[in-house]
Amino acid sequence: MQQAIFLDRDGVIIENQAAYVRSWADVEIFPQALVALRRLAELPYKIMIVTNQSVVGRGIIELAAAEALNQRLVEVIEQAGGRIDGVYMCPHAPETRCACRKPQPGLITEARNDWHIDLSRSIMVGDAVTDMQAGLAAGVGHLIMVTTGRGRVQLQQVDQDLRAKITIFESLQAYVEDLLINL
Ligand SMILES: [Mg+2]
Repeated sequence: MQQAIFLDRDGVIIENQAAYVRSWADVEIFPQALVALRRLAELPYKIMIVTNQSVVGRGIIELAAAEALNQRLVEVIEQAGGRIDGVYMCPHAPETRCACRKPQPGLITEARNDWHIDLSRSIMVGDAVTDMQAGLAAGVGHLIMVTTGRGRVQLQQVDQDLRAKITIFESLQAYVEDLLINL
């Protein structure tokens, strides 16, 4: 069975935007994340993006536009020497009560089914409490919260119970450097 690293998109790989990432003009890639992804590409992990994009369900942008934006991001990551094996996106608005919008585990379990992933030996990296909750609900063994994006503010909403289950790093790169040392 494969190991995977699940990466939230906004706040982990690119800057979070309060008014949503609506077009490529809104995409601010973290340089440190590109470095981290290049280093991750050498490791035997499937690398998955798991992202909530209610901007689609709210009718602000089309599904095809959101998918094209993800594809362009993957291409930039590849040009920088990185690799993304799959992009799993929830396009629904919160009121839809779907099974895929984090904190629900649906995106992660869908990826697990597609790739035969051992979630207990896998990693979830996110900047929001809902990322940690989705990973926990899916049974992901390693929950990493980064303080880029919304992370610093979101950390204030982490209760004692959740705090005991997560590890905090200042960025995706800081986490990946630690992962490489401790492999
Ligand atoms: Mg995020």
